[in-house]
Amino acid sequence: NTVLAGRGLTKKYGSTTALDGVDVEVRERDSLAVMGPSGSGKSTLLHTLAGIIRPDGGTVLLRGQAIDGLSENRLSTLRRKRFGFVFQFGQLLPELPAEENVALPLMLEGMPRRQAVRQARRWFAPLGLDGLEHRRPGQLSGGQAQRVAIARALVVEPDVVFADEPTGALDQATSTEVVRLLTSVAREQGAALVMVTHDADVAAHCDRILQVRDGRISHHSQYTVA
Ligand code: ADP
Ligand code: ADP
Repeated sequence: NTVLAGRGLTKKYGSTTALDGVDVEVRERDSLAVMGPSGSGKSTLLHTLAGIIRPDGGTVLLRGQAIDGLSENRLSTLRRKRFGFVFQFGQLLPELPAEENVALPLMLEGMPRRQAVRQARRWFAPLGLDGLEHRRPGQLSGGQAQRVAIARALVVEPDVVFADEPTGALDQATSTEVVRLLTSVAREQGAALVMVTHDADVAAHCDRILQVRDGRISHHSQYTVA
């Protein structure tokens, strides 16, 4: 039940080796936190697994199928349909109400607006966002905005959610609340989660922690039984 795997991933930027033969595996409903010092290759790893960066060597397998050979077009379709993304901040469109921000990925897939918004609204209660459907991002707190971003990442019912420092702009209490919801709602939906974070308290909410150093995995934790 491996959903996503990277095998022997390498990536160089000029003389900098960002990834140096990384093997990584993410199982169904598994949440994996990627930690490590600045410049160790965390973002490069996340972006490579997400099909945003093409590795120089190695391969990325989504449910056993290599995605690195796909054309740019097919790769971007795959990203839209099978992956969800949550970033640090600034990812919501300021002029759209929250429910339309969440509905956007469905509309990009060609779903009619009313149907997309109806589906989008289903995510508000599980994420503690009831009553905020019509707010614009500017009228939301940082934690609320991140929960809307999580809803938007999950609305396509992806295989994998990629989160890059999703709590980086939040205070500790709000971070905890957001990461709890992110891990639990992703699991309920059936998505695996790959999250880059520098915050050990946030990482502790994931099933496993991967430590990256100089483009290599320096340590990985065992599965913890919840
Ligand atoms: P053991 O210590 O029992 O020999 P491993 O050290 O191979 O087992 O793995 C411990 C756990 O960490 C396993 O659940 C495995 O799936 C996971 N794991 C090992 N290597 C990686 C990796 N590169 N990326 C993600 N998870 C890994
Ligand atoms: P982290 O996310 O752990 O901070 P990154 O994956 O961003 O690390 O970067 C790993 C290494 O690759 C660093 O030395 C960084 O400077 C380098 N790097 C990352 N992206 C680029 C790029 N687009 N061009 C040149 N070097 C890059």
